[in-house]
Amino acid sequence: MTQDPGRTIYVDGQWRPADEGATFAVTDPATGEVIGQAADGGRADTEAAIAAADRALPAWSGTTAYQRAAVLARADTLMRERRGELAALMTREQGKPLKASMNEVAYAADFLAWFAEEAKRIGGVTIPSARADQRFVTMRQPVGVVAAITPWNYPISMLTRKLAPAIAAGCTSVLKPADQTPLCAVATVQLLADAGVPAGVVNMVTTTHAAEVGDTLLESPVVRKLTFTGSTAVGKMLAAKAGATLKRVSVELGGHAPFIVFPDADPVRAAKGAALVKFLNTGQACISPNRIYVHRSIYDTFVATLEQRIAALRVGRGDHDGVSIGPLIDEPAVAKMEAQVVDARTKGARVVAGGERVQVDGLDGTTFFAPTLLADVTPEMLISREETFGPIAAVTPFEDEDEVVARANDTEYGLAAYVYTNDLSTAIRVTEKLRFGMVGVNDINPTSAAAPFGGVKASGLGREGGYEGIDEYLDTKLVGISI
Ligand code: ADP
Repeated sequence: MTQDPGRTIYVDGQWRPADEGATFAVTDPATGEVIGQAADGGRADTEAAIAAADRALPAWSGTTAYQRAAVLARADTLMRERRGELAALMTREQGKPLKASMNEVAYAADFLAWFAEEAKRIGGVTIPSARADQRFVTMRQPVGVVAAITPWNYPISMLTRKLAPAIAAGCTSVLKPADQTPLCAVATVQLLADAGVPAGVVNMVTTTHAAEVGDTLLESPVVRKLTFTGSTAVGKMLAAKAGATLKRVSVELGGHAPFIVFPDADPVRAAKGAALVKFLNTGQACISPNRIYVHRSIYDTFVATLEQRIAALRVGRGDHDGVSIGPLIDEPAVAKMEAQVVDARTKGARVVAGGERVQVDGLDGTTFFAPTLLADVTPEMLISREETFGPIAAVTPFEDEDEVVARANDTEYGLAAYVYTNDLSTAIRVTEKLRFGMVGVNDINPTSAAAPFGGVKASGLGREGGYEGIDEYLDTKLVGISI
């Protein structure tokens, strides 16, 4: 499969090459093989995309909620019909096992379905006035042109999580997908066009010049909102730049999730849960547990069970049967795993499983890293501070609830946290004390299109999905009426 680079920038309903004709290669992270080309857009392409979004705004924001809902519902149906082909593309371009790609496409479609419904629930309120001759009502109106910047780790669902509420709200958008996964973005934007999203409502610039395209979007006074998912460093910088033109901002950033197992919990069940969520997407998820705290009384059983679960994980190409650990996205990701393992080992951690790069299918120079279990991890180690974004489970014993809650909160991040306990009071008490946007209680997947996803502190601003998800794309207009 190759992608025609003349067909990866999408402006005003037309696929086109970059203004300067530049292209870049897209590779399969499992094999290093070039699987396609994408247009390498720049400032001029981005300006054209913004202008198209601006032109399309009056007509699109003037459609009825029912028209916008119908387009999104068609997109949902199409995405479920194309699930197999989209998943195969995702596995080639991003590396995750095919089953995980299938799950992601379904999750991506869930946002289309959810916001098709939410479009019809955009309503205002009436507010009593202190004056007998006055009435107040509020209207909810689209914020305008949206800039959406997305990451490579969930290359389709992160797009629909942003574009679906924008479409539902009556906004128009310019999407800049990650340069590792432009082909998934092309397939998603084509699907939206096929579903009847009119010209100019969604535009896209593929690029390796992230800063140039990002700056063009952020400097434009026409763009009224930034929605970003990616690293905390980039998110903070973009949010600061968005401040110059006072854009609405929602950013979903890094995490450093604690996973706490209390003494009354079943250590075997907790370890199975930890293995599932830790190695999801080869650990390349912002809600991946980075610090696993287990009460000392059940620590050995937990570690032994996790070791067994890890031994059963097969590393390999995502398109091979039975594989649950794919490649890491690139070489720097492998270097980060190696640095965290060396640092932990030097400071006294036990490497119970894995700990090094592995070769798969005789492929050279690729980015497979063995699923790794580090035991006896301490707060001084790099892995206790720095987001891992890879397949390393770091386990630490604890004795006392207050101590473990303090350690869990001792991070700049605040995205997801996990608590295992069968004691209802412990569950509620600890959940209330954790300074995180999402808490899984005996649950490893506290995510759904119907639930608000997002973090506090350095993990972000705003919520995606749920009832809140559409608010990020709407302004409230107050109308005072004298009668
Ligand atoms: P990751 O480390 O997961 O790749 P990044 O934050 O670097 O996370 O990337 C997330 C998204 O942000 C990608 O689409 C990337 O191209 C984009 N990005 C990175 N740097 C910038 C920048 N300076 N301006 C705008 N977008 C950027």
